[in-house]
Amino acid sequence: MWYAMWYTSAMWYTMSYTYTSAMWYTTMQCGIHLERCNVVYKLKCSCGNSYIGQTQRNLKFRLEEHNPLKSNHQNTDVVKHLYSHPDHFVDFKNPEILASAFNHRELLIKETLLIQEQQPEINVDNFSTPLYLFNT
Ligand SMILES: [Zn+2]
Repeated sequence: MWYAMWYTSAMWYTMSYTYTSAMWYTTMQCGIHLERCNVVYKLKCSCGNSYIGQTQRNLKFRLEEHNPLKSNHQNTDVVKHLYSHPDHFVDFKNPEILASAFNHRELLIKETLLIQEQQPEINVDNFSTPLYLFNT
């Protein structure tokens, strides 16, 4: 069981997640819907390295920002990786959806927990929201 705590407008909030619960991973079994929003997704590169990100918007648009062929001004970790390794290939049509959330705070917490757990090599920052994590 993982617990996440955060501090907002003079109050502490706590939240607990059962990391392996079916709830977290139900979206994985439902297939990939590129029109979805509020998801944590994982991209795999042909070199075996991976990237975990989140989007509140349509997943398809977010993935286009990671694609050097389609994005002209975005400087995401994925774009940087592909620029420095031009022979690598990322399948932007088949991201793995790791989690979904009802609001942005929950989305950032899930993204952070998944990044901490899986340590994807392409991510430069290893958290999106500062969390105090403790495990029981
Ligand atoms: Zn690569």
